[in-house]
Amino acid sequence: MFCQGCGTELAQTATFCSQCGRPKPGTAASSREGAPQQAPIPQYQVVQAPVTSGLAVGALVAALFLPLLGLILGYVARNDIRSSNPPKGGDGLATAAIVIGWIFTILGGLLMIFVLAFWGEIMAGFWDGYYNY
Ligand SMILES: [Zn+2]
Repeated sequence: MFCQGCGTELAQTATFCSQCGRPKPGTAASSREGAPQQAPIPQYQVVQAPVTSGLAVGALVAALFLPLLGLILGYVARNDIRSSNPPKGGDGLATAAIVIGWIFTILGGLLMIFVLAFWGEIMAGFWDGYYNY
């Protein structure tokens, strides 16, 4: 096979001419270059919205009512999202569930500790008020 541009003999495996750089006829490179008049067919990329993990949504909802459950579900959902192929959406939701779950769990825990620590005083105050009437 000889180059169509400069006549240099081309190796069987060559894609381009080593002398002038012209693509060798019959190769993918030449067929692309060989039809310059043809308008390129626009290739619309089908953007598929990833499936949002239902687990992540559930985790976020759970985090608002049962923080500890939401926290656990959030971690499960994030694992599920990151290990699934094609990747699922909802990573942000799962992270939000984890953050909210932590905040609410800690706040709830602190509140519980506070109430338990001062339970006696709270009740004493309650009875004081009761008897002062
Ligand atoms: Zn050539």
